[in-house]
Amino acid sequence: MALAESKGLILFTRNHKEHDMLVKIFTESAGKQMFYVKGIHRKNHPLKSAVQPFTEAIYIGTFKTENLSFLNSAKAIHPFSNIQQDIFMSAYATYLLNLADAAIEDRIYDPNLYHFLREALFLIDQGYDAEIITNIFEIQILQRFGVIFNWQQCAVCGQANHQYYFSHKYHGLLCEKHVILDTKHYPTSPKIMYLVGQLANVHYEQLNHLSFKPQTKQELRKFIDFLYEEYVGIHLKSKKFIDQMKNWQDILEPNH
Ligand SMILES: [Zn+2]
Repeated sequence: MALAESKGLILFTRNHKEHDMLVKIFTESAGKQMFYVKGIHRKNHPLKSAVQPFTEAIYIGTFKTENLSFLNSAKAIHPFSNIQQDIFMSAYATYLLNLADAAIEDRIYDPNLYHFLREALFLIDQGYDAEIITNIFEIQILQRFGVIFNWQQCAVCGQANHQYYFSHKYHGLLCEKHVILDTKHYPTSPKIMYLVGQLANVHYEQLNHLSFKPQTKQELRKFIDFLYEEYVGIHLKSKKFIDQMKNWQDILEPNH
């Protein structure tokens, strides 16, 4: 089989036998692939830096359409060095990698998702607010899980204004006039719903250093958790870790 090459992001690695490793890579041109890397734990293995967590590189190997692929070499290795060294950043980055891994099947060509994930990692690595980067990622990746909302208009009358409430019953937003149709609408302020609509459409390249008030962040977190619980139903360990981390982060950095 001919050698192929593609840009890729390391999703995760798992040791295999004594010297080998399974490396899951989200490749730009062939989707997510599991690669077998022989002898990676031997000294001076040429692929060592290319298979570190939070790395992008051009990976060269045999890309199989079934079973394991094989990695031969790598070039243009770019480590996300700040993420690699920071427990907070790496917690968020791991969660985004896990979400991308869960959202689509292996070997599905999805360069848009690849670039979206890559941009998110670059921004976190550059010190942008990881919580906000994550919120945008969570909201926009919902459609890969088959969950699609119209964040711009009322589900009943189609009117577009800035006073919305979220209704599970109507699978979307309700305006002030129609919110009475669902007495069990999600209890959040229209301000948060408006913000979600903004985040659903923002491009990462448009982002300047956004910052939200702690209370806004908290409400947003709660609402996105609700969406994932109701509509996606996955429970990632990396997300649980972030939730726990937030508790001790508040203790360590009281002004955060
Ligand atoms: Zn309406």
